[in-house]
Amino acid sequence: MSVRSINPTNEEEIETFEPHTPAEIDTAISRADDRFKSWRLTRFEERAKLMRAAADVLEARAAEFARHMTLEMGKPISQAEAEAKKCAWVCRHYADNAEAYLEDEPIETDASSSYVRNLPIGPVLAVMPWNFPLWQVFRFAAPSLMAGNVGLLKHASNVWRCALDIEQIFTSAGFPEGCFQTLLIGSDKVEGILKDDRVRAATLTGSGPAGSSVASIAGSEIKPTVLELGGTDAFIVMPSADLEDAVETAVDGRTQNNGQSCIAAKRFFVHADIYDAFKEKFVAAMGDLKIGDPLDKDTQIGPLAMKSIYDDLKDQTERSIKKGARPLIETQGMPDRGYWFAPQILEDAPDGSPAAEEEMFGPVASLWKVNSLDDAIARTNKSPFGLGSAIFTNDKSEIDNAIRDLEAGSTFVNAKVASDPRLPFGGVKKSGYGRELSRDGILAFVNRKTVSIA
Ligand code: NAP
Repeated sequence: MSVRSINPTNEEEIETFEPHTPAEIDTAISRADDRFKSWRLTRFEERAKLMRAAADVLEARAAEFARHMTLEMGKPISQAEAEAKKCAWVCRHYADNAEAYLEDEPIETDASSSYVRNLPIGPVLAVMPWNFPLWQVFRFAAPSLMAGNVGLLKHASNVWRCALDIEQIFTSAGFPEGCFQTLLIGSDKVEGILKDDRVRAATLTGSGPAGSSVASIAGSEIKPTVLELGGTDAFIVMPSADLEDAVETAVDGRTQNNGQSCIAAKRFFVHADIYDAFKEKFVAAMGDLKIGDPLDKDTQIGPLAMKSIYDDLKDQTERSIKKGARPLIETQGMPDRGYWFAPQILEDAPDGSPAAEEEMFGPVASLWKVNSLDDAIARTNKSPFGLGSAIFTNDKSEIDNAIRDLEAGSTFVNAKVASDPRLPFGGVKKSGYGRELSRDGILAFVNRKTVSIA
């Protein structure tokens, strides 16, 4: 059955795609398996040259790729262009650093020589989400290809034009056939691919249920996985913080990508001494955001990506209000067609309400007053998730305690949580395991072979 791409701005069909057949999937896996045999033997220099060419393609055609992202999932075009350029950055980062990241690691023993050598493992399946259609894929693909692996992409079913763009970027850059292939398939085809002996590992970025399913199947096949899942990141503001900066970052952190980011700041804990001042500015700034056509360069908030995301967020917001959360922004009427959701702040959502317990995937912030850092940390850690965390303070001991006690894969101080090719990225608890980016990211899918020469 054809798969339709729907523009979330107006619910109109953009184009339709024919999914790959079982025979085409099998051919793609064979091609990946064959290519791996020669690709694993290529020199870093050769891989780096191609990876830099991929960066060139991304930069030269950033406007075109950005348009496809915006049409398929509604992110503001300026953010989409920035995303395409960030992908070029991660390609260049691994082109420049992969060899050093993977160099032999000597270890002194009784042998005449002993060391760890990092060798590629084979075809890796990447199951990816729609929210950063290019970035999520490139942050897997750049290190993996530089390590000598080959990639198979199963992208989210609403961003297949972007999925095809990615394959084309690698082809245009000159990567040999089979190094990186896009499979146009639904999630029902993932199990068969994971169980195929030619596929050696998997990475999934997405929701908990999807991660759990992929990890279970891969586990039954004894194949390694990296999981990058959801988050309910805390954003803590203490009295010594620069308030203007904290508010500006809070708004950006909550509403980037129309609020649909795993590392978006979602739960705001603000100290009582500055609570009223923060709240007043936060409400004003969230209410002032420019909502509109995501193809317009000045737009700050576009539509949510899909009807299911809109329905979930509406339901979570309404249930939170029913349980006692107070909405602080009077929302304007939104167009009837399209998945438009105005930014909102919910104050004092009680325990047990969605705004306190669940990931809200859209521009809805939850705000609470706290009396101490310990209180903020305790509430942060009540969440089953542990992706990122941010604290605004200029107090050294508060910074130290936050770093020590926040249960999260990262703590950003006086800044929003952001991914950076130079820094490891990942979560703890229900936010997943394993790390992407930096040296950790390239080591995720290698055979760390022990060598000992008597
Ligand atoms: P999703 O529904 O889990 O989809 C993600 C990918 O998994 C899609 O390709 C989807 O395919 C596939 N999938 C879904 N169920 C599957 C299953 N049972 N078996 C195999 N594959 C399956 O998530 P989403 O709604 O696209 O993305 C939003 C979630 O991703 C949020 O929770 C967000 O926080 C998280 N996320 C995490 C990170 C991170 O780095 N930690 C980054 C971005 C997003 P179909 O589209 O065909 O269903």
